[in-house]
Amino acid sequence: MSVRVGVIGATGAVGQRLIQQLAPHDDFEIAALTASESSAGKPYSEAAKWRASGPIPDGVGDVTVVETDPSAVGDDVDLLFSSLPSSVGERVEPAFAEAGYVVSSNSSNGRLDDDVPLVIPEVNADHVDLIEVQRDERGWDGALLKNPNCSTITMVPPLAALDDAFGLESVTVSTLQAVSGAGYDGVTSMEIIDNVLPHIGGEETKMETETCKLLGGFDGAELSWHDVEVSASCNRVPTLDGHLENVWAETAEDAGPAEAEQAFRDMPSVDLPSAPEQLIHVHEDPNRPQPRLDRDAEGGQAISVGPVQETPDGILFDSLAHNTIRGAAGASVLNGELLLERGYL
Ligand code: NAP
Repeated sequence: MSVRVGVIGATGAVGQRLIQQLAPHDDFEIAALTASESSAGKPYSEAAKWRASGPIPDGVGDVTVVETDPSAVGDDVDLLFSSLPSSVGERVEPAFAEAGYVVSSNSSNGRLDDDVPLVIPEVNADHVDLIEVQRDERGWDGALLKNPNCSTITMVPPLAALDDAFGLESVTVSTLQAVSGAGYDGVTSMEIIDNVLPHIGGEETKMETETCKLLGGFDGAELSWHDVEVSASCNRVPTLDGHLENVWAETAEDAGPAEAEQAFRDMPSVDLPSAPEQLIHVHEDPNRPQPRLDRDAEGGQAISVGPVQETPDGILFDSLAHNTIRGAAGASVLNGELLLERGYL
């Protein structure tokens, strides 16, 4: 039997991607869609300015959007996927968890809280059991689980592979991030056409902190953060989807390019319905990965890296992920599948 799910913040860029991922899903059935007051009461097809490729999936356009409030979402919905602005998520996600819903969220609020699991299933699936601690501390019947920022998720799986094989000491990263990462109303065409924006507010700090939490350990009671030093510089470029990142990594044990590439190839995926078969695709062509050519690898769930180069202090490689799929909606759905597999629904 499929789990009845809702999408809170269903009309936005990530919400639309969530609907594309959830509508054909065998284990999940879309049963509720929420957005802001101005969308509530309208059919989804009217409330959402549908901009995702392809039509609105069958049966979704007629669903009436409701307010983002626990009293407006049915009791028979167990799992909510959240794609709300973080200022809204901060207010309503705990209220949903308190009301008994399990929330798999994209929003940045609470990602660094000690009792909130921040999870990439292929990297730190064991952190999901932090929910037990969260329920004890907060007295919730529901739960709140987060996926990381889209720029963090683009580099962390290859970094986890390096950490497992050689130990990771420091990381410097420079990003080239697609405009969809800012949401539909994020950057205007006048700002981004023929241009690069050399700063994305708050993004550098997210990459620097979330990476340490994701790569940290969990002993069943407490998280210990990894002590890797991360320095990030984030740039917005005029691509539509797909974040490309130049990553310099220093490892404890020497890792040559061939060994690092082998570690990437050997990084296992997980046995969840939306997981890619090969988590990290390693390209031999120095002109790859490219956003337009590689963002859709394995339905947008795989990470693509280019050939590894040696530097005076370590290694350098390019990493690419689809920011609204692997970096957002697809990441939340994978976390929803993990929650189901681990018996949290
Ligand atoms: P977006 O396009 O602006 O969509 C925001 C959604 O939230 C819409 O459904 C909107 O509904 C709803 N909303 C806004 N204010 C609300 C309120 N006061 N009460 C209830 N609902 C409200 O944003 P997005 O790009 O999809 O991003 C959503 C979240 O995911 C953000 O926290 C973002 O940081 C995070 N994220 C985004 C990406 C990405 O690549 N875009 C990646 C990772 C994480 P209306 O249509 O009714 O206004």
